[in-house]
Amino acid sequence: MTKILVTGGAGYIGSHACKVLAREGYTPVVFDNLSTGWEQAAKFGPLERGDLLDRAQIDAAFARHRPAAVMHFAALSQVGESMLVPGWYWRSNILGAANLAEAAVAAGCQRFIFSSTCATYGDQDGVVLDENSLQAPINAYGASKRAIEDLLSNFDASFGLKNVIFRYFNVAGADEEAEVGEFHQPETHLIPLVLDAIDGTRPKLTIYGTDYDTPDGTCIRDYVHVMDLVEAHVLGLKWLESGRDSRAFNLGTGSGFSVREVMDAAGAVTNRAVPFEEGPRRAGDATRLVSGSNRAIDELGWQPRRSTMPQMIGDAWRWHKTGGYGA
Ligand code: UDP
Repeated sequence: MTKILVTGGAGYIGSHACKVLAREGYTPVVFDNLSTGWEQAAKFGPLERGDLLDRAQIDAAFARHRPAAVMHFAALSQVGESMLVPGWYWRSNILGAANLAEAAVAAGCQRFIFSSTCATYGDQDGVVLDENSLQAPINAYGASKRAIEDLLSNFDASFGLKNVIFRYFNVAGADEEAEVGEFHQPETHLIPLVLDAIDGTRPKLTIYGTDYDTPDGTCIRDYVHVMDLVEAHVLGLKWLESGRDSRAFNLGTGSGFSVREVMDAAGAVTNRAVPFEEGPRRAGDATRLVSGSNRAIDELGWQPRRSTMPQMIGDAWRWHKTGGYGA
């Protein structure tokens, strides 16, 4: 069976990608240092415990498995944290990606699928964010991802390493079968924190800023179901397998939800109140990030059929009640 090297395959999005790859007949080989991932999540293929900052460990994984493609999920990925320790984000994300791309080329693996982010677009309120929009990140997380996009374009020009870049909007939900899900320690993402507040795991949610220029004063984001998102990656893999050229795709639905709207939806789905307080803005947050593109739908045939707010919260809630990997 065709092997795919999945960096970060023990993490939230990577583990869902492995599940779908296995379902589609591929063997996902997880490459993960387990710094934020979970060994229990790497259950759909072999696990290579290794670090992207150690080139020899990556080379060893390529030599052992001869993967036909790489899906690169492993990264530091928190906007707020990236503004506290920007050097760490630059060093870790960019050097890791450079090592991985070099190792892929050296091993003759010419297909590279990369997790980028809408944070590369920065804060451009009122602008339709499509793949041709200016990329002007306002936080170190987005800046590091944009730099990796540039790196991949250089590797395509120099070595013919073909890439598909996915710029994720806000990823949410969980595997409908609750085999894998979102489980960060510490948790920083909105929906799991709302669910923690609902079930009393945390006393309350803090809303980061209520003075944004939006109808209810809170930030607006475009949420996409993690299973829809990873299905796009399989379509991206098939795109490269069919010899198509490198391409970037937004992955979002085009619908924006404010923080308060997410809280209200979670209250409705769970039929419980969401205890909350209003707090100051978090550094690095853009006002509104909503995709304005159908490219993935039109060109890849992507169908984000699970990406409704009730389904994303419902699936996240079902997973949440399992206790995650801490159970
Ligand atoms: N947010 C919030 N309180 C929290 C965590 C997040 O108000 O405890 C807001 C955050 O400011 C942003 C949105 O929720 O506007 C989504 O944040 P998250 O960290 O989930 O994803 P990001 O947009 O940073 O990738």
